[in-house]
Amino acid sequence: MTAFDLNAEHAELRAGVARVCAEFPGSYWRDLDSRRAYPDDFVQALIREGWLAAMIPEEYGGSGLTLTAGAVILEEIHRQGCNAAACHAQMYTMGTVLRHGSAEQKARYLPGIADGSLRLQAFGVTEPTSGTDTLSLKTTARREGDEWVINGQKIWTSRAEHSDLMVLLARTTPREEAKSRTDGLSVFLVDMRGKVGNGIDIRPIRTMMNHATTEVFFDNLRIPADALVGEEGKGFRYILSGMNSERILIAAECIGDAKWFLKKGSDYAKERVVFGAPIGRNQGVQFPLARAHAHMMASEAIVYRAAALYDAGHNPGVEANTAKMLAADASWEAAEACLQTHGGFGFAEEYDVERKFREARLYQVAPISTNLILCYIAEQVLGLPKSYGEGRG
Ligand SMILES: Cc1cc2nc3c(=O)[nH]c(=O)nc-3n(C[C@H](O)[C@H](O)[C@H](O)COP(=O)(O)OP(=O)(O)OC[C@H]3O[C@@H](n4cnc5c(N)ncnc54)[C@H](O)[C@@H]3O)c2cc1C
Repeated sequence: MTAFDLNAEHAELRAGVARVCAEFPGSYWRDLDSRRAYPDDFVQALIREGWLAAMIPEEYGGSGLTLTAGAVILEEIHRQGCNAAACHAQMYTMGTVLRHGSAEQKARYLPGIADGSLRLQAFGVTEPTSGTDTLSLKTTARREGDEWVINGQKIWTSRAEHSDLMVLLARTTPREEAKSRTDGLSVFLVDMRGKVGNGIDIRPIRTMMNHATTEVFFDNLRIPADALVGEEGKGFRYILSGMNSERILIAAECIGDAKWFLKKGSDYAKERVVFGAPIGRNQGVQFPLARAHAHMMASEAIVYRAAALYDAGHNPGVEANTAKMLAADASWEAAEACLQTHGGFGFAEEYDVERKFREARLYQVAPISTNLILCYIAEQVLGLPKSYGEGRG
């Protein structure tokens, strides 16, 4: 038990989430993984029990819980061996809608999202030519009367086929005409219902793990003027604050993964007898697991500190990025120790280790790669010259 479990509210959350996850054992995930199929039953069960509406305010039918509670929920899903990647975007896009959406947008969409009749699972930021350099994105939104006309392409837009709504970042003022470097991008809450084949084309990308990610093409997609979130041109700032919540929540998932790997590895090390003794008696087997546990605990503390700052109304960029990097490293270290502890059996699908290992690897790259976090800390915290983007050096 960690300090974070001492809060009765969180212990209750963990127990409730664990009860749902118990219905979805390794065999369920293995089957989906082999077919690269979406875990619809799992997502429906989370919706039914109200877990995906955790951060929606009570007045709109949700539970009105904090980002910290959202982090606990996602961490627990991963600790139980399940995968929240099928639905976590609803939690992290919620911050953008709640902080910057209009009262009308909230009233129109949040009750449906809370009761599960509407899904907000797609977050369209990354583009094939701009990559991490978000300010260079090329998708445009042009105002025509009462509508916006969207043209361009996104890549790695996960869950687009399983979502009704997408939070989309697009350029509304050409870069050279924008007031400042970060102005000119806008956020839209795009209602995709009826638009696929009619302005939106979605093409799945098959990846090394089961992630339901896609390419999305916009060809003169027309959306109503009131799909704009907040003020025109200020979207980059809104997305940055949304990205902080995304990083914190995904870091919490990494902590859950690390705990799963450590339990799985330790259990196996106690049971597996080689040379007449459990392999876990050897320090060569113990130490990688123990070291990974120490790193998991340290990163867990930063994850929940970042979440607490976010809940207090701050925009904790340094903490959120640090949490994401350390938690992703801790889960990867635990994955490596777990797989090594299992020897050959770590490679057998039925142990679930190889599948979780593939899933955990993603978080070295997405939603932000480790290098870019280090660039950010070097610049923002240590005051070193900017090494990326405009004005470098
Ligand atoms: C399975 C999956 C799901 C995803 N889901 C979503 C989603 O739902 N929505 C969305 O918008 N995006 C999504 N992404 C995109 C993800 O956020 C990006 O892949 C990630 O931010 C890295 O961008 P990139 O792939 O374009 O890499 P690039 O920006 O091309 O970088 C390639 C490599 O170069 C390194 N690099 C680049 N510039 C520098 C520099 N200045 N200094 C040092 N190193 C540098 C990076 O660290 C990286 O390792 C997803 C990605 C994957 C793989």
